[in-house]
Amino acid sequence: MIDDKVKVKCPKCSMMFRERAQNLRNGFQTNCRHCNRLITFDTSSEDRNIRRALLSAREVRIAIEAARAKLRGNAAP
Ligand SMILES: [Zn+2]
Repeated sequence: MIDDKVKVKCPKCSMMFRERAQNLRNGFQTNCRHCNRLITFDTSSEDRNIRRALLSAREVRIAIEAARAKLRGNAAP
């Protein structure tokens, strides 16, 4: 089973938390689990941690999609 969580580093408090790759898309907003700051995930963000998180999330989604396609392929008659 693929881990569908992506690590995110808060730009304010620098603490790490995990967010689901399915949610983590351009324009997605969430609050830091530690300092409660609202974080906006934007591919044009100045913060490289934000851009990296978006990139990681996309890779995870591709991996999940590939794994699902493989499962479907194996299940086919
Ligand atoms: Zn924080």
